[in-house]
Amino acid sequence: MRTIKFVLLFFLFLIGSGCRSQTTEHNFSGESAYQYVQAQLDFGARIPGSSALLSTSHYIQDTLTQNNWQVETQDFHFMDVPLSNIIAKKGEGEKIILIGAHYDTRAVADQESDIDLQSTAVPGANDGASGSAVLLELSRVLELPAGAQVWLVFFDGEDQGHLNDWGWSVGSDYFVHQLNEKLYKVIIIDMIGDEDLHIYQEKNSTTTLMTEIWQVAAELGYDSQLIPEYKYAMIDDHLPFLNQGIDTVLLIDFDYPYWHTTHDTIEHVSPASLQVIGDVLVNWILTQ
Ligand SMILES: [Zn+2]
Repeated sequence: MRTIKFVLLFFLFLIGSGCRSQTTEHNFSGESAYQYVQAQLDFGARIPGSSALLSTSHYIQDTLTQNNWQVETQDFHFMDVPLSNIIAKKGEGEKIILIGAHYDTRAVADQESDIDLQSTAVPGANDGASGSAVLLELSRVLELPAGAQVWLVFFDGEDQGHLNDWGWSVGSDYFVHQLNEKLYKVIIIDMIGDEDLHIYQEKNSTTTLMTEIWQVAAELGYDSQLIPEYKYAMIDDHLPFLNQGIDTVLLIDFDYPYWHTTHDTIEHVSPASLQVIGDVLVNWILTQ
């Protein structure tokens, strides 16, 4: 009798734990995204052309492939430096939804008040790793709407503006000029892991698309994180798309005190903030 009871309890335990893990498997997890931030930081500063960036690229590609996305890279040179955008595709259909982030980090921390630190590379926990981490977590859990494809694109060469005559958004600019397909809607995410998350509407972004996204955020109860007010006009990976007339929104929290400093570290990124962005993107995609 005791043995039967034990077997029954064990069986119930198995069923219970099975159900739990199944629920988390299909939901966006801020904690899992946070692990993807750490994994990128472990490679070191992801400066274009560096071995750290190359290793990060391989890690991103492997993760996307394991999650059953069709992965390709777009390799080119800029100012004699090899750059590589990573493109992951899933789904069939005419509507192509692109979610993008940059995965390079700035070569110098030129916003440091300490002059001695200004030539040090930015670790890029928030500025670089956070957006890419959300894309990787999306690749694990995303459900696609009928009749749509989703492209997750990791841009190289976003964050070296004004260094050695570089511009900003070199990778996304190249991507847009190689594009043969018509994109339906584009969302760029950058610096969205800040522990104190306040994302304002961005002045260059497409108004109608921004309204859609902020509506989803409000329905999820995230109206104190995605605030329905304009604040900044940014130069970022959204501009090359907007210049081609493609509906594009940039999600960014630019009130980040550690921007382009050596203090852009994982302590200032929170799983809860990554969760907000993941939830908004997962739910917005389902409305498309
Ligand atoms: Zn930056």
